[in-house]
Amino acid sequence: MSTHQTLHVVNPATGEPISTLPAASADDIAKAAERARQVFTAGVWSRLPVRERAVVLLRLADLMERDAEILARLDSEDAGKPITECRTGDVPGAIESIRWFAEAADKVFGRIAPSGPHGLGLMSREPVGVVAAILPWNYPLAMTAWKVGPALAAGNCLLVKPAEATPRSALHLATLAAEAGLPDRVLTVLPGYGSEAGSALARDPLVGALSFTGSTATGRRILMAAAESNFKGVSLEMGGKSPQVLMADALAYGDELIDNMIEAAFLTTGQNCTAGSRVLVHRSIAEEVLERFTAAAKELVIGDPSDSRTQVGPLIDRAAFDRVAGAVEAARAGGAEVHTGGLPHGLPPHGAYYPPTVITRAPDGSDVLTKELFGPVVTVQTFTTEDEAVRMANTTEYGLAASVWTRDLDTALRLARGIEAGVISVNAYSEGDITTPFGGWKQSGFGGVEKSTNAFDQWTREKTVWIRTH
Ligand code: NAD
Repeated sequence: MSTHQTLHVVNPATGEPISTLPAASADDIAKAAERARQVFTAGVWSRLPVRERAVVLLRLADLMERDAEILARLDSEDAGKPITECRTGDVPGAIESIRWFAEAADKVFGRIAPSGPHGLGLMSREPVGVVAAILPWNYPLAMTAWKVGPALAAGNCLLVKPAEATPRSALHLATLAAEAGLPDRVLTVLPGYGSEAGSALARDPLVGALSFTGSTATGRRILMAAAESNFKGVSLEMGGKSPQVLMADALAYGDELIDNMIEAAFLTTGQNCTAGSRVLVHRSIAEEVLERFTAAAKELVIGDPSDSRTQVGPLIDRAAFDRVAGAVEAARAGGAEVHTGGLPHGLPPHGAYYPPTVITRAPDGSDVLTKELFGPVVTVQTFTTEDEAVRMANTTEYGLAASVWTRDLDTALRLARGIEAGVISVNAYSEGDITTPFGGWKQSGFGGVEKSTNAFDQWTREKTVWIRTH
């Protein structure tokens, strides 16, 4: 029996309710998995010629384009994301993802083993069957599309559980998928609570693969649930505490450097898995970088996420506010210096707004240096040697991403080799594009399992057919 019957979607900018939805119970999850299994076995999608699957997904991408503004508004309202980010980043990225995987679907070839004259080994990639995705709230549509594209292109039936706070763009996507001609139950969106619906998905015996994006703490639970149930294949995309490493010559990039640093630190109000929340800067340029970076942070437009000029919106909820504010105050009490322009007047009193904040002299081991705060808070630390920079970059338990800034190619490559992270950008803040794998190392995840043709590895299994030859 369900312990939670309803989901309450609240606008983080105002604290006002947006909508109330039924929450999927554990029983609903079991039934959805059973129905998806029947549809998979019937072959209406899984055995459709792959080119025909691609055509349906391409139609879905076109419909997303038609409804781009609706999708942008749903994510902006539910997650408090600045609407301009949704319009220019999340939604176009999601459309590109569906389109790219539709086009890639019939370009993933099997292999033939070099066995010799006595037999022929054919290795093919097969859909897993019923698969699941559990999603975070910070990139609701974009993360959904990263999973829907390859999972459906590969021929699976997918169950999606959006985050509690942000179910509406995934629900709209499901209606567009139906309009595009996707057969019933190939994509099922099940809004619900992590503790019930998410946990039931992780334990469901019919779910053969589960792709999770969210916090490291939840990822750990999901892996245990998979081990305790059916050993479903799990892929994990989790948190980060990513460094931005600025070598002595980094200021050669001038305003471009500062603009990228700001984007790395404050995109999605710092609630971004790859947020560059730790600036590591060569001592010789630290003063100038701090001055320019702090000045630019103070100029960011904070306000209503539905206003296209807004660059920094609210945090997702009051609990997030308390976590961020608590860590900053603890650092201050430990001797840190806190640089912030504060909040503008007139923000709604129940919105969870926190101002862009830059911290220097943070105490060793403090939460602002080690924990993923998931807010607009950045620390700045200095180093003198390249080895020291690499050591500092690698001090946290995470290894999602990093950016390095230098005009010297050899230095850039040495840093890129030395830093333990899944994605490293040179002279930019970037996660690459749809053709490049994405994923973290260490406690950030299982490596590059999203985007690129790597994504098919999550959603397919390799089968060997051995043919005896005479
Ligand atoms: P979260 O871990 O709290 O929740 C993520 C999802 O897991 C939600 O849908 C939630 O309902 C579900 N869940 C919660 N408990 C569960 C359980 N016991 N069993 C199964 N499912 C459960 O994370 P969040 O707060 O929604 O998202 C923020 C986190 O996501 C941050 O740590 C961020 O770094 C990470 N993230 C990572 C990436 C990436 O690609 N690496 C991308 C975006 C966000």
